[in-house]
Amino acid sequence: MSSKVESPVPRRGLMLVISSPSGAGKSSLSRRLIAEHPRLELSVSCTTRAPRPGETDGVEYHFVTPERFAELVAEDAFLEWADVHDHRYGTLRAPVMAALEAGRDVVFDIDWQGGRQITDRAKADVVLVFILPPSLPALRARLQGRAQDSAEVIERRLTRATEEIAHYDEYDYVIVNDQFEAAYRALLEIYQGEQHRRHRHPGLKAFVAELMAGQA
Ligand code: ADP
Ligand code: 5GP
Repeated sequence: MSSKVESPVPRRGLMLVISSPSGAGKSSLSRRLIAEHPRLELSVSCTTRAPRPGETDGVEYHFVTPERFAELVAEDAFLEWADVHDHRYGTLRAPVMAALEAGRDVVFDIDWQGGRQITDRAKADVVLVFILPPSLPALRARLQGRAQDSAEVIERRLTRATEEIAHYDEYDYVIVNDQFEAAYRALLEIYQGEQHRRHRHPGLKAFVAELMAGQA
């Protein structure tokens, strides 16, 4: 269960970037966090890859053609975008900005290239979390168990895994997702703790001034 300690001072929304090699568990962890926190929403990326069985346009991704993706790049519609696994993936800027302005938090399931670009653009609002698998055999077993990809695609994802893992040290927090419950608890603590960072409460100075004057 998540505990809630709300500050009387309104808070800016934060951007929770979660990266990992494919199969380490970032979607499972972020889905659970979102399910338990109505203020938190998932950024739905655009991708040029085909939907996997069970994926729905507008839910996991906006599935677009390479031509449409190029148009969106030309229109500067992306907060960040990158080539991943021979396809293009990008985060639309407008829905993220609307969420943050409304005081909501946004989770990003994006790779290290995206994490780096978002950090360059909005460092103060970004929290970077990297998920590691307990071992490469466990990662392989999870990709096989997920049963969404062909053997060839799984091999490509595993080859890319080491490349993604090499960037773990650009992240604020690192969680080894061995036991799911323990990993989830760690993510929850990070999210809850980060909400209380002083700079996320722009009204704090006025609140403290009133407090000191005995009016709060
Ligand atoms: P990612 O989003 O990083 O590609 P997923 O969340 O899709 O990874 O997880 C890959 C597979 O591993 C899924 O079938 C998921 O249920 C499973 N999984 C996630 N975390 C664990 C864990 N701690 N132990 C065992 N299996 C897990
Ligand atoms: P998948 O094809 O398994 O859904 O995603 C492959 C990889 O692309 C994952 O590492 C995922 O984090 C990354 N990814 C998904 N959306 C985006 C995005 O909008 N931007 C970037 N940079 N990476 C993304």
